[in-house]
Amino acid sequence: ASFDRMGIKDDLLRGIYAYGFEKPSAIQQRAVMPIIQGRDVIAQAQSGTGKTSMIALTVCQMVDTATREVQALILSPTRELAAQTEKVIMAIGLHMNIQAHACIGGKSVGEDIRKLEYGVHVVSGTPGRVCDMIKRRTLRTRQIKLLVLDESDEMLSRGFKDQIYDVYRYLPPELQVDWLTEKMRSNNFTVSSMHGDMPQKERD
Ligand code: AMP
Repeated sequence: ASFDRMGIKDDLLRGIYAYGFEKPSAIQQRAVMPIIQGRDVIAQAQSGTGKTSMIALTVCQMVDTATREVQALILSPTRELAAQTEKVIMAIGLHMNIQAHACIGGKSVGEDIRKLEYGVHVVSGTPGRVCDMIKRRTLRTRQIKLLVLDESDEMLSRGFKDQIYDVYRYLPPELQVDWLTEKMRSNNFTVSSMHGDMPQKERD
C-alpha cells in the first residue's frame, strides 16, 4: 500500500512525505479511501495508530482552498487532542496553504473571533467552544461538508452528547459524518445507535 495510489492531491502528497510518512498505517490503509470517497465511516482504532494523521489527511484532501470558508469540522473530547489535530493539519497541508484553527475552551475568545472572521478552511475543537462560536455566528457552518467525531466513545462518556447534537443541528443536511472510536463495546456501546439517533434534518 502506498499514499501514491490513493488519489491524493499532489500538494498534499508532498506535505505527507515532507512530514516524514512513507506509507499508510493499517487504519489509514483501510479507512482513508472510503472517507475520501465521501462515505460515512465508523472506524475503531487505538490511540497511536495513525488516527489523528488520518483525520488530517482526509480533511486536507476534501478542502477547497479557493474559498476561505469552513468546510470541515472536527470535534474532540479534549483541548490537547483538538490542538494536536490542528497542528498536524497545518503541517501536512503546508504546501496547499490550508488554514486550520483550534477552537478550544481556555483560550481567548477574541483570538477565535479574529481567526474565524479572517477565514479558515478547517475547525478542530471541543464541543462547548465550537457550539459557542456557532451560536455567536462567528463560525459559519453553511459550507461544512464533513463532520469528524474523534474519540466519539470518549466524548459520549464525558457527557458531550447534548453539545454534539446542538452543533449538529446547525450543520447542512448534506453532511458526511465520520466516527472514530477507541473501543467498540457490543452491549452498551452507543456510537452506532447514536448515529441512528441523530435528529432528522429538514430538507426543503
Ligand atoms: P496518530 O495516531 O495519528 O497521532 O499517530 C501516532 C504517531 O504515528 C504519530 O507520531 C504520527 O506522526 C505517526 N504516524 C501516523 N501515521 C503515520 C504513517 N503513515 N507513517 C509513519 N508515522 C505515522
